[in-house]
Amino acid sequence: MLFHCMLLLMVSLMTIPASDVGHDGKADDFSSDALSRGPHSFDALHYDVSLEIFEGIEEIAGTSGLLLQSEESNLTGIVLDFKGMTIDSAWDAQGALSFLQESETVSVDLNSPLNSGDTVTVWFSYGGSPIIQGGSGFHWNMELGNHLSHYSVGMTPHSGRYMLPCWDDIYDKASMDTHLTVTDTLYAVSCGELVDVETGSGTTTYHWHHPQEISLYIWAIAVSDFIVVEDSTYGWIKYYTYPDVEIEPIFGKVDRMIDCFEATYCAYPWNQNLGFPFVGTSGFYEHNTIPFTVTGESIVAHEISHHWWGNYVTEEDWPEIWLAEGFATYSEALWEEWEYGFEAYTNYMFEIMQGYVASGKVLPIVPATNYWGTTVYDKGASVLHMLRYVIGEDAFFDGLQLYLADNAYSSTTTADLIDAFEATSSMQLDWFFDTWVYDYAYPDYQLSWESVQSGSNWEVSISVEQIQTLGPVFEMPVEFLIEGTEKDTLVVMWNNIQSQEETYTVSFLPQEVTLDPCHNILRSGLVSGIEEQEGSSYSKPPPVIFPNPAHSSVVILWQHHRQFTARVFDLSGRCVLKGRISSASTTMDVSSLPSGCYQVFVESSISRDSAPLTVIRQGDR
Ligand SMILES: [Zn+2]
Repeated sequence: MLFHCMLLLMVSLMTIPASDVGHDGKADDFSSDALSRGPHSFDALHYDVSLEIFEGIEEIAGTSGLLLQSEESNLTGIVLDFKGMTIDSAWDAQGALSFLQESETVSVDLNSPLNSGDTVTVWFSYGGSPIIQGGSGFHWNMELGNHLSHYSVGMTPHSGRYMLPCWDDIYDKASMDTHLTVTDTLYAVSCGELVDVETGSGTTTYHWHHPQEISLYIWAIAVSDFIVVEDSTYGWIKYYTYPDVEIEPIFGKVDRMIDCFEATYCAYPWNQNLGFPFVGTSGFYEHNTIPFTVTGESIVAHEISHHWWGNYVTEEDWPEIWLAEGFATYSEALWEEWEYGFEAYTNYMFEIMQGYVASGKVLPIVPATNYWGTTVYDKGASVLHMLRYVIGEDAFFDGLQLYLADNAYSSTTTADLIDAFEATSSMQLDWFFDTWVYDYAYPDYQLSWESVQSGSNWEVSISVEQIQTLGPVFEMPVEFLIEGTEKDTLVVMWNNIQSQEETYTVSFLPQEVTLDPCHNILRSGLVSGIEEQEGSSYSKPPPVIFPNPAHSSVVILWQHHRQFTARVFDLSGRCVLKGRISSASTTMDVSSLPSGCYQVFVESSISRDSAPLTVIRQGDR
């Protein structure tokens, strides 16, 4: 009854702000515009942030301290990122500091020069109305059902600067203390562990301590009239929710997702701190220990998996962001495998690969040009799927674990990943990563074959030509299924030249030869039509549409399907609306439809289904 319950919940609860786009509700037209600036003169070690939240006037009063360590001799001043609010004073243990706040930065003269290795804590007092840029910043009075939430979002590539003076680059991680003072009817959460609660005059202050270093883009705060509910399996998992919300429909499988990722990757890295704030956002964010997501199963799995991929081991710079997003997308498929079996995994990956080919994108994964695009997410996941096929189960999963262990709490590039997989596979893998990660496109195989009888056997000559016009010649083991009327056999060609022919001997008359029958390779041919399956090893429930009745837009969720086409038919059988639904974009605009009853047909590369939809126009209510 999972999705039936979810539907009831969503109808009663959700109002989705249309303007909000998250990390994982990505805008496909985004162009990367900001690289990290590389090494600077100091290392940010710890931020101690105190924020008083005035939701009535939408202002914040803040104090923040940065413990930094000099990385050069005679460091006399620092420049930090800060934008929006106004700084009124700065000081260190010796006294007041002179500072200059400009539009994007604050420059501070230190009271005493620092030598390499020396540390100092620089404090700031500031306040005002925080700003939002590119989704990053502080969001006030966001609706979720009958509740208002106020929260900060850390968005790539800039995030911390809208909330505190900081060094706002992904690679300079720091530990965090976050003190949040809010009206005493509200509850405030941030990253890490709740270590203290103090009541004041009409206010409550919540102190959250995050002892490990994290990048600022995964630091956040969330404030609302939350109640705190513990997970029924793991009491250390919390839901910051509301009395009128059912948690089970959305988060009923969080315990098993943790089991899945701990068994597959390593122990959960964040001291048993994990909570889900119910905030009014349509984006999905992997904020560490407090991911924002109140939607479907695969997205919950995706955001939880970021606690290993991106949060625990972090891409050193944005062009390598597939090390977070490609892995989180692949984790969705591994969750399918864990919960529903290998067929569910292969179907999920087939949809991801087919969707990527259908997108027409042919870019390299690294350097990423669109941090939230399908190349980073879907081609990234496809590369992991192919690597598993190429190096085998043990080397692949051992490689994932080795990479995490070797780079725990630090930052990496793809080169570190290659090192791990080369160690566990005992293979040299440059050829694989050079073509699939750093180069363009994917193969377009043209297959031809013929057979001749030889005694009681048949000699099958299989020819493959790579006819893609963009990108390199891809080196891959390519499987062929040779089928007779009653027998079949699978053979493998190590294809490393553009045009290649191999001959295989079989004991039956070949009727058909199929290239890559198990869909192990990202390739052009995947784009062809539906492959209906006879009987599946797991159930595929119909799509869930909410709200229903709908007024302006609907969310369409279809379990086990990452991307699919949705067509809306009216009662006369006319297709009145068509859209592509993916976990990056789960909504369909139905505002053009007149009031009435419709049927929504969904179709993916592996199945079809439908569900009814009622539209009620505003004036007809
Ligand atoms: Zn993600």
